[in-house]
Amino acid sequence: MDQDLPTRGNDRQIPQPIVLTSHPGNSSSAPRPVLWGAGDQKSRGPVIATPRSAGRNAIGAHSGSYSLYRALAVAAGQLDADHKPDLTNTAPAEPIGPFPQWADGGKIVSLDPWGHVPGGFAEDIAAGADVRPSIAVTKAHINMPEIGDAIRAGRLKADGEILAPNGDIRVTKIAIEPVWQLEGVARRFGIRETELRRHLFEHTGGMFPELVTRPDLKIFLPPIGGTTVYLFGDPRKLGRKETIIACRVHDECNGSDVFGSDICTCRPYLAHGVEVCVQTAQEGGVGAVVYNRKEGRALGEVTKFLVYNARKRQEGGDRADAYFQRTECVAGVQDMRFQELMPDVLHWLGISRIDRLVSMSNMKYAPIVASGIEVVERIPIPDELIPADARVEMDAKKAAGYFTDQVPDSAELGIAKGRGLDA
Ligand SMILES: [Zn+2]
Repeated sequence: MDQDLPTRGNDRQIPQPIVLTSHPGNSSSAPRPVLWGAGDQKSRGPVIATPRSAGRNAIGAHSGSYSLYRALAVAAGQLDADHKPDLTNTAPAEPIGPFPQWADGGKIVSLDPWGHVPGGFAEDIAAGADVRPSIAVTKAHINMPEIGDAIRAGRLKADGEILAPNGDIRVTKIAIEPVWQLEGVARRFGIRETELRRHLFEHTGGMFPELVTRPDLKIFLPPIGGTTVYLFGDPRKLGRKETIIACRVHDECNGSDVFGSDICTCRPYLAHGVEVCVQTAQEGGVGAVVYNRKEGRALGEVTKFLVYNARKRQEGGDRADAYFQRTECVAGVQDMRFQELMPDVLHWLGISRIDRLVSMSNMKYAPIVASGIEVVERIPIPDELIPADARVEMDAKKAAGYFTDQVPDSAELGIAKGRGLDA
C-alpha cells in the first residue's frame, strides 16, 4: 500500500484538489483565442499548453513524448512542477520567415509556424501566460564519413565555407515539436474533426479527455516524436523564387542511420541527400534535410524487428514479392507515416519549389506536389550505394511504384536476395 512506501517523491507538489482540465468551467482562466493562419503573430495568438497557465488553449503537453519524462521528474522530486524556463539567449541563431505560407491556415496544420519566436507574444507573457517555444534554431558542424568519401572520389570539393577539407559541414539545424491544429489535420485526411478527436482519445487509452470534452480547445500537442531540419547554405535565401532548393525528406531508421545496419538503404540515401544538399549550397542554393521521427514507417522499432524475423524465416527466404505482406501480417497495415502532414515543414521554410528532390518515393512526392510545391527533378540513390541485403527492399519498393525506369518483373521479385537470420 502507498502508506508503506518511503517518501522520496514529490507528494508535496500535488495540488489539492486535483484540477481537472476536462471541462471549461474548471479551468482557471478562459482559453486565449487563436486565429490559426492569421497574417501576423499578434493576431494569430500564442499556443499555451502549460497546465495552470493563464489562457491555456492547447490540449496535451510540451516536448512531445518527452513530456512523460518531465512528469516522472516532477514525481521523483527532481523538478519543480512550477518551473518556468529562463529563455535568455535562446532565440534562433538564424531568422526563419515569416513566409506567406504561414498566413494560409491550410498549408501548415501540424506545427506552430511562430513556435521559434515566443518573445513575439510579450503581452500575453506579461499577462501571465506560459508561452514556450516548440521550435529551436541553432548552428552546428556535422561530419559523416560518406562525405569524406565523396571528397576523395572527387564528387565534392571543400570550399572552406560550407565544406571543410576534413569533411566538416556547416549547417543550421532546427528542432520542431508537433503542434496539431485539429480542424486542419482532420481536413487534411478528409474526416470530421469530431471523428479525429474521438479516435485520438480512444486509441491513446483515454489519455487526453479534453479531445472529446473541450471542442473549444482547437490545438493538440501530441506525445509523438518531432522533426529535425538540417539546412545547408544561407537560410536567408529561403523564400526567394530564384533560390535553387535541394531537399531530402527522411524518415528515421535508427538501425541504418546510426548503426549502419545493411538491410535497408536509409543511411546511404540520407548521406546521398546530404551530398546533394552540400553541392546545391556550394552553387549558391539551399539544401534541406528534413528528418522525421517516424521509426519503422511509424510502426515503431519493435514491429520492425518482428517483421525482419518474419521476412527472413518465411518459406522461400527474404524476397521482394513478400516484403510488404510480412509487414501487413504483423502491423495490420504496410505503413503509418501519413505523409499528408509532411509537407507542412517545407511550407514553414518558405519552399514553393524543390529543384532537386532526393527521393524516389511516390508516397513523399505525391503529397508534396498536392500541397502546391513544384518538384523539378527527382534524384534516385546511385546503384553503387545500395547494400546487398537491401536489394529486397529496393526491388519491392520499385515494384510498388517507386520512381524508377527499371521495374523488376515477378520472377525477379520471387528471388530470395536477403540473408537468412544466421548468415
Ligand atoms: Zn532503414
